[in-house]
Amino acid sequence: MAIATVNPATGETLKTFEPLSEHEVDERLALAAAEFRTYRATDFKQRAAWMQSAAGLLESEQEEVARLMTTEMGKTLTAARSEVAKCVKGMRYYAEHAEEFLADEPVDAPAVAARRAYARYQPLGPVLAVMPWNFPLWQAVRFAAPALMAGNVGLLKHASNVPQTALYLGGLFARAGFPPGCFQTLLIGSGQVEAVLRDRRVVAATLTGSEPAGRSVASIAGSEVKKTVLELGGSDPYVVMPSADLDAAAATAVTARVQNNGQSCIAAKRFIVHTEVYDDFTGRFVARMEALRVGDPMDDSTDVGPLATRQGRDDVEKIVADAAGRGARVLCGGWSPDLPGWFYQPTVIADITPEMRLFGEEVFGPVASLYRAGDIDEALALANATSFGLGANAWTTDPVEQERFVTELEAGLVFVNGMVTSYPELPFGGVRNSGYGRELSAHGIREFCNLKAVWIG
Ligand code: NDP
Repeated sequence: MAIATVNPATGETLKTFEPLSEHEVDERLALAAAEFRTYRATDFKQRAAWMQSAAGLLESEQEEVARLMTTEMGKTLTAARSEVAKCVKGMRYYAEHAEEFLADEPVDAPAVAARRAYARYQPLGPVLAVMPWNFPLWQAVRFAAPALMAGNVGLLKHASNVPQTALYLGGLFARAGFPPGCFQTLLIGSGQVEAVLRDRRVVAATLTGSEPAGRSVASIAGSEVKKTVLELGGSDPYVVMPSADLDAAAATAVTARVQNNGQSCIAAKRFIVHTEVYDDFTGRFVARMEALRVGDPMDDSTDVGPLATRQGRDDVEKIVADAAGRGARVLCGGWSPDLPGWFYQPTVIADITPEMRLFGEEVFGPVASLYRAGDIDEALALANATSFGLGANAWTTDPVEQERFVTELEAGLVFVNGMVTSYPELPFGGVRNSGYGRELSAHGIREFCNLKAVWIG
């Protein structure tokens, strides 16, 4: 894919960029490695001051950055503003808590025959972050804020369709006072990632994106014995049981499915409804999906903007056609509006069977699949039936059912009577083919640290 800003609402190419040459990449890696030697010795107070300054700058530039993201990948301006606010919060969170999260952990010294023993977290070095376009600022910030606060330095290879957001972020940390090599944006295509990953100056990598990209980066890193954190796709279940508040469940279901124009790894994608409330829930849900306004993402009254790329819209059209062709019932949507750009109408599909692609694959667009479950066992079996394991939502007020969902849903995040979302305070990540490792919270900042055992006799 060319490195370019192409407005998904119009299809117009606004700006193209030349990828960095091998020599330019080498210069940046050299700078990162050199910077790490001094940056690692800075104290938390200094790093926190720079991080707070970056948060302040970002907050003051919210509108401009939000418009840039909307222009590059089509999320509604309202959603883009919220994303900026979330990043500011995430940066401040790590500025305030990094020192406590990475404090020495004392160990019972006599038990290990020492005078003193403890575990110490130390930074690892330059970490490569391969990031996707769907939350172009947040995905990168939730790597950058903990990485920088831990004393690591970051190299961002962002998705090729959000180059201006990527450059903004690189510049933001520098303007905030971080030394120039602490966080650099590498404008490179995915074909240039392997060489960076194999370079001895890069010590670890994190990737958020598709399963094939994750497998590729993890296998290269594995052959170099470099640690990776992977946050890949999901096909999150959203289970509705008879005791649920159906109106709240239906309203939240719409947001959970169409957030970010349907392009979120933790969007609810499969709606598994108990047979007793299936018709009632479906009526409310479909009515709300039909009422959504599709259109210009810059317009504050728009609910759903375009998909980020033509390829993404083609993929959604194909997966829906596959289901419809095999007998699924389209209850609403199922078509692309006749507009310039890559729009897709919010869609609900019922009667999905295992041979349809929709059953097992992630659909990255505003398409909800409906399933009917006879009881909680069937609901759990359906919820766990894909190869993914990122988030899961369950709606029930019955405490016994709640406990079963918490325990038996095979996912990295379980939200009961609410919508899966990320908070700086909660660990974030998946199991199975959704990836491994955790971002956010104390766990996220510790992923790229050397946890050194110290024994003093
Ligand atoms: P990709 O996984 O292809 O892109 C994500 C990032 O990985 C981009 O920076 C991309 O660079 C890079 N990349 C892609 N292939 C490789 C590779 N072989 N080696 C190293 N880096 C690579 O996602 P797409 O944008 O193509 O979306 C495809 C599907 O992925 C979606 O439909 C969705 O299912 C899933 N996805 C999941 C996301 C999530 O949040 N978990 C986010 C985005 C997508 P470049 O842009 O230059 O190709």
